[in-house]
Parts: sequence; structure tokens; C-alpha cells
Amino acid sequence: MTQGRVTFLGTGTSSGVPMIGCACDVCRSTDPRDNRLRPSIYVEVPGHASILVDTTPDFRQQALTHGIARVDAVLFTHSHADHILGLDELRRFNWMQGGPIPAYASADTWDHIRRTFYYAFDGVKRLGGGIPKLEPHDISGPIVVGGVNVVPVPLWHGDAPILGFRFGGLAYLTDCSRLADEAWALVDGVETLVIDALRDRPHTTHFTVDEALDVIARVRPRRAYMTHMSHELGHAATSARLPEGVQLAYDGLVLEVDVDVI
Ligand SMILES: [Zn+2]
Ligand SMILES: [Zn+2]
Ligand SMILES: [Zn+2]
Repeated sequence: MTQGRVTFLGTGTSSGVPMIGCACDVCRSTDPRDNRLRPSIYVEVPGHASILVDTTPDFRQQALTHGIARVDAVLFTHSHADHILGLDELRRFNWMQGGPIPAYASADTWDHIRRTFYYAFDGVKRLGGGIPKLEPHDISGPIVVGGVNVVPVPLWHGDAPILGFRFGGLAYLTDCSRLADEAWALVDGVETLVIDALRDRPHTTHFTVDEALDVIARVRPRRAYMTHMSHELGHAATSARLPEGVQLAYDGLVLEVDVDVI
């Protein structure tokens, strides 16, 4: 294990918070923790790699805000728009780093990404602007990314199988309404658990706050953070009713975590 650092680049649901055209209390809140970009984390492991999880539609803004100047690898949880639409911004990292960026996703997710970003994968030469260059890898089991051991954690996002990721002491489980049966053993003993909690009302593809608390109670991490929140969860009011050791994540939150390296 070595010490790494995770930065929450975005902790909001697919619309972001505030939502366009919404005048609710949370969308008009002046608490910066109620401003949520689309969900993503950046995991830095000194001496090994800096790994981005998902490329949101806000990725350019997230990279500028947090001074991200290096992406050694990208992991994709799934292909929903709020997790992939910033992929084109990787061009800048291609130019700075002088080559393609290794990227990891399930075969299904790659199929969707290849169709959404057809121009980056179809081999057709086009005049003018550059294209993002990725080195695609299928995820079919544990992977080693720049010397960092990453364990994919199978999740159910409604009826869609998607992936969470475990980096040693940190597990990042966004966009889920159920853990796959085999996932429980894979997150056993995790210190820091990040888990989807959309809102209080039930939803077909996301955990509610109470459902997320049930998962946390079963996994028993040292600390847990909720993510992918909608505008129905104000930061201060929701935090006040969470049990000890459980918090809402917020954009810009940085945590020290133990990371498993080779
Ligand atoms: Zn999402
Ligand atoms: Zn609102
Ligand atoms: Zn999703």
C-alpha cells in the first residue's frame, strides 16, 4: 500500500446542481457545496499514476479548477452521457503527454463509446481539428494501471451492469441501485466507501440515502461519502441527519487514501 489522494471533481447527478431553470432552495443556495458538477474522481498516486474516473461533460472545467495537467489513464464506469461526454477534452492531454491515453472500460461500455465518439475510432482522416487518442483496454478482471492495482466492482444500475472501482482502501461505487452478489466480497475491508445516493424518494437506477446507508452498514468502512446527489439533497440539511462517519461528498473534497500498488 502507498498513500494516494482522491479529489472529487463532481458529485452531482446527470443534470448537475443547480439544474437549469430551477429556483428551488438548493439550486439557489449560496453554500458552495450545493454546486455539483457531473460525477467524477481523480486519483493521484505519487510515483505511480494519476487516474481519472469518467470524463464528464464538465471535465474541462474540472481540470482547470483543480489544475489537472496529467492523466495517465482513464477508467470508465459506464457509458451514460454524464460520465463520458467530456471525452473529447482528452485531446489536450494527448498533446501535452505526446501520445494516446490508456483507457479501461467494459466491452459494452466501449461499444457505446465507439458509437458516440465515432470520429475518434473510425480511422477516417478528416481535415482540421485533432481527435482524442485513446488506447482502449477491455476490463474483464482486476487491472494494473500505472503500477496501481484496481479491482472492478460489478454493480447494477437499474438493469444495466456497470462497474465501480476499488483502489486498495478506497472503493468508488457511483450510479448503482444494487451491488452484484460478488461485489460484497470485493469491497470487504475497504476504509473509504464512496456510494451513490441520489435523493430520498425511490429511483429505478440509483440508491436513495436510506438504501446507501444500508450498504454502508453492511460494508462497515471507517468512513463513507455519498455522491451523485440531486437538487433534492441540500448539503447542510442532509449532512445534519447522517450518522457518524457518513458525509455527503462535495466538489473539491480531497481525501488521503491508501492505494494498492504492485
Ligand atoms: Zn450518472
Ligand atoms: Zn433545484
Ligand atoms: Zn448512469
